[in-house]
Amino acid sequence: METNLKILVVDGSRVARKLISRALASEISAATMDITAVASAGEALEQLAAQRFDLITSALLLSDMYGIELCRRVRSSNAHRFTPFVLVTAEPHERLMKEGFSAGVTDYYDKTRGFKDFVQFIHSFAARYSRLFGKVLYLEDNETEARMTAAIMEHHGLQVVRVKSAEEAIQVIDRSFDLVVSDFFLEEDMSGGDFLHNLRCGSHFTREELPVLIVTGGDTPNLQAEIFHAGGNDYVTKPIVEEVFISRIRSLLVIKQQFHLLKQQSDEMQRMATVDSLTGIYNKRFLVDNIDTVLEDSQNHPVWVALLDLDHFKSINDHYGHMAGDRVLQGVGKLLKGFFRDHDIVARVGGEEFVVVATRRTPRECLAEMEALRRAIEALKPGGFSVTASIGLANTIQRRQASFNDLTYEADSAMYRAKQAGRNRIRQAGEPTIGANGG
Ligand code: GH3
Ligand code: MG
Ligand code: MG
Ligand code: MG
Repeated sequence: METNLKILVVDGSRVARKLISRALASEISAATMDITAVASAGEALEQLAAQRFDLITSALLLSDMYGIELCRRVRSSNAHRFTPFVLVTAEPHERLMKEGFSAGVTDYYDKTRGFKDFVQFIHSFAARYSRLFGKVLYLEDNETEARMTAAIMEHHGLQVVRVKSAEEAIQVIDRSFDLVVSDFFLEEDMSGGDFLHNLRCGSHFTREELPVLIVTGGDTPNLQAEIFHAGGNDYVTKPIVEEVFISRIRSLLVIKQQFHLLKQQSDEMQRMATVDSLTGIYNKRFLVDNIDTVLEDSQNHPVWVALLDLDHFKSINDHYGHMAGDRVLQGVGKLLKGFFRDHDIVARVGGEEFVVVATRRTPRECLAEMEALRRAIEALKPGGFSVTASIGLANTIQRRQASFNDLTYEADSAMYRAKQAGRNRIRQAGEPTIGANGG
């Protein structure tokens, strides 16, 4: 028998609770969902302490707490650390989404899309619950037991790879598996506990990325402690009761899926944290975090640092407004991004200042490239506005040990000399004050 999807709906509005509950309890859903609707975060936390839910949906604004704060509390609880949490709000914007994701929000539902659509949205969650999906490594040395249990798992949709010994399990385990189901006592030298220990400590699979369900004959407190200590997530006792067994597997697979989702979200947040939102090129933080790696790799030698500052940029803002200025910055950012190779770094480091870190070029090549860039900016007319740039250039040819600080200092004073010489030109560190480039 399939267990129902238990949903907790948190919304301060009585009307909204009624609409959501009614929509979810419609014909198709009634058989597969149990809905509990509460008005406040306080009531929600009471419900969550008393029973397990498979999905939580919450309004952003609650009488006693923000939905995001509620999510944070839910995430710090043991029982619902991985339960999908959907924030229901009108037109979620980027800042809110960022804050919510970092609090552990799984997804957003834009309530301006209406309640009918909401039911569809919830159904897509439910679909993931109805049939199990995943690849299981199943370690069991008893033939009869193995055949029976594997049949149950396969019946529920799981792909089962069965092994007979811990040694064999260690051989075949890899990151394609979603779950391990393992007997605890084995005939061979290595026990299920030894395998677990090897999995957690030797192969560094965490409890979240590869959950383990132990199947055991007894459940004395000592044995329970041993199982959890060895890195098991949960256990069931023999003889296996299908409903219990499958519902444990279901929650462990949710852990795994949530872990995966959280990882994707954190990768996305990482990306957002290293990219300048106006221009889409890297920000200063990315540059600072990565520059040492570039400088330390001797294959990159020589390393060039170009500091590029737009000329009289303030007057574009002053005459045409800040939005016009933004469009100019976007245009220049886009040009820069397309102009350099993949392993070069192009970053916006200040208002109208950009840094390019270029490697593996001769002085002649680099200078020609910067000159072409200067001309390209001059010809660009982003948003219809004429703009030019002054470029200061420094390199590691004379001083291989130069730090990024040294290089930016040199590039900055070269850039300053370019400004003084009349702007829209290139100056290099170490060259005589009256230079010949681009002037
Ligand atoms: P110079 O040729 O000497 O570099 O003159 P400048 O006007 O470019 O230099 P200044 O440093 O005086 O002015 C830079 C201006 O850039 C001032 C600031 O308001 C503007 N700015 C900084 N960040 C942004 C931004 O994100 N968008 C817009 N539109 N303007 C910005
Ligand atoms: Mg500047
Ligand atoms: Mg300036
Ligand atoms: Mg400027």
